[in-house]
Amino acid sequence: MDKKRIYLSLSKQTGFENEYIQKALETSWITSGGPNVEEFESKLENYYKNDSFVTVLNSGTSAIHLALILLGVKADDEVICQTMTFSASANPILYQGAKPIFIDSESDTWNICPESLEIAIKDRIEKGKKPKAIIAVHLYGTPYKVDEVHAVADRYEIPVIEDSAEALGSTYKGKKCGSFGSFGILSFNGNKIITTSCGGALISNSKEIKERAIFYATQSKDKAVHFQHSEIGYNYRMSNICAGVGLGQMRSLEANIESKVINHNFYKNIFSSIDNVELFEVFNEDHFSNYWLNTILIDPDITSNRNRESLRLALEKENIESRPLWKPMHLQPIFETYPYYGNKIAEDLFEKGLCLPSGSNLTNENKNRIEEVINAFFK
Ligand SMILES: *Cc1c(COP(=O)(O)O)cnc(C)c1O
Repeated sequence: MDKKRIYLSLSKQTGFENEYIQKALETSWITSGGPNVEEFESKLENYYKNDSFVTVLNSGTSAIHLALILLGVKADDEVICQTMTFSASANPILYQGAKPIFIDSESDTWNICPESLEIAIKDRIEKGKKPKAIIAVHLYGTPYKVDEVHAVADRYEIPVIEDSAEALGSTYKGKKCGSFGSFGILSFNGNKIITTSCGGALISNSKEIKERAIFYATQSKDKAVHFQHSEIGYNYRMSNICAGVGLGQMRSLEANIESKVINHNFYKNIFSSIDNVELFEVFNEDHFSNYWLNTILIDPDITSNRNRESLRLALEKENIESRPLWKPMHLQPIFETYPYYGNKIAEDLFEKGLCLPSGSNLTNENKNRIEEVINAFFK
């Protein structure tokens, strides 16, 4: 294969990462926590403003796990989770020995359906247990229906964990995703909007909660000179080196979001003249998506054998990565025995949907190659 692979989503390097890493090395801060960690947190707090407290961790998954711990989720509790998501949204429920309850998507945002959510809560209460938390996801960077979902959550007084792993830079009614729930979480994995190689953040609205999060993330050390522990501890803090990468990346956050919007317009242009394909777009202006990944729905055409899998193979042949949408959690072997509420919308999306290369590092040459394959495929 002589053509260089085009990946689904890679972050661009800014060139500033080295400065911070170098400083960490020179000052021998090569551990978890440290000056880069604190500076990265304060940069993020500044980005979120209005009283957000940010704890940076070694992954977005750890952030979700800590959110559940801080909300007091214990064995046999029930936790509601959007079914259409990456498994990292749901796995931490099992870490706590709790039981996931999966909720279908709605078709405007592909995120948690407020109606199915309420039906599920009522039914769970009737069956004897009120869910302890709701994990709602801004999938592919598109905000879920925050007002509607939080209205349901408030009615039953259930806290929301906002999985904003894919939505740094997205907004709902002008307010940043990650700042609506009792907790917001971010991911800085290599494929996200900005990266620390691997890493994540927990966003809360109080200093005490942040201190509590750091306590759990650094092995739950009691106040004593000898190491003493009265609670389970975790090794979840971000390293000073990774935070250095994050500080460098932070400088190009706005530019990355801009290049995502440019990528989106590129696809919009291609698909405007192709029937049977729908490029996902936000359905009204309250929802601003960073379009972390551009996604399409293809109506399978049996006579011409055009469907999401045959397009994926055509792209793959030219060394271009694409991937079906997240397979819903209630269809996953690990989760299929848990309750699910909905109308099979997520299932339908999974059947028809494909994610297209959307990295902030896509070049014009990359785009030409992608466009050629797509146009030839639909000719
Ligand atoms: C990436 C991702 C996570 C987990 O983040 P990690 O940093 O990889 O642990 C959680 N939820 C969603 C929706 C994600 O895309």
